[in-house]
Amino acid sequence: MLLKSPEEVERFIKEKGIKHFKAKEFLCKHCGKVIIDSRLIELAERLRGYLGKPLIITSGYRCPEHNRRVGGVPDSPHIKGLALDVLTESSRERFKIFTWLVNNGVTRIGMAKTYTHFDIDPDKPQEVIWDYYD
Ligand SMILES: [Zn+2]
Repeated sequence: MLLKSPEEVERFIKEKGIKHFKAKEFLCKHCGKVIIDSRLIELAERLRGYLGKPLIITSGYRCPEHNRRVGGVPDSPHIKGLALDVLTESSRERFKIFTWLVNNGVTRIGMAKTYTHFDIDPDKPQEVIWDYYD
């Protein structure tokens, strides 16, 4: 289900008993708008529970302008509310995050030095892991 306003995200979080995230963590950092697939919020909550420590979302929804400013690809799943980036501080933590995501049905994962990207964009190739290294 696509949630399309901060209020809708807040209501979802309340109804589902999501304990570790607030709506603002998923909003565009530039304008505060949001489109986010509720499945990502549930995945983040379950992943956070598995990790047993705070999970910092470095990028959730991005409006097209913000996406341009941060150098995202024009058809980024962040614009469609289908992607999250989460802070990843060590190779051990990366291992835990990657294995959890794979074991929980996520089929698109990107590895960066300091964060992990994952998305559920059905219009993009599935069963892929890539990196952002140059
Ligand atoms: Zn924005």
